[in-house]
Amino acid sequence: MNKLEIRKYPDPVLKKKAEEVKEITPEIRKLIEEMVLTIGEGKGVGLAAPQVGVSKRIILFETGEGVTALINPKINKKSKKQFIDIEGCLSFPDVWVKVKRPERVEVEAQDILGRKIQMEASMMASRVLQHELDHLDGVLFIERINLLEKLKVRDKLNKLKKKYASNRKSDK
Ligand SMILES: [Zn+2]
Repeated sequence: MNKLEIRKYPDPVLKKKAEEVKEITPEIRKLIEEMVLTIGEGKGVGLAAPQVGVSKRIILFETGEGVTALINPKINKKSKKQFIDIEGCLSFPDVWVKVKRPERVEVEAQDILGRKIQMEASMMASRVLQHELDHLDGVLFIERINLLEKLKVRDKLNKLKKKYASNRKSDK
């Protein structure tokens, strides 16, 4: 079991729409275990499979009470009421922005054994779920921010782009 490399912006895998998981094979289970190992526990973060370079509809979701893996998750309901809070992303080191999102969501998914699960989440948990689900559609949190927030992180994003380009050169 290995920790996986977190893909950083602007890696193109982050912009791809991820594929449905048709069968929970031993490879899928291993991937999930390695994703859990990668984020560790107790940090209140999430991780989507595209962030480790696998374009499949799997997310991890951590709220401080352990990690839950959701396979093929989808949002069934969103509250009209929204709230703003600071968000970060493992694929965007050092980038923190204010993002407006619905307060509550209802999510349906499969667990690691393929059983259907339904969950309701609010506030921070709802935010993590929405952020991770966006990853499965190639939507990044910096696409959900207002102009002012965009201006604030412009330099950091340019730095990430440069770093990505130079890492690619040194790989060759
Ligand atoms: Zn993210």
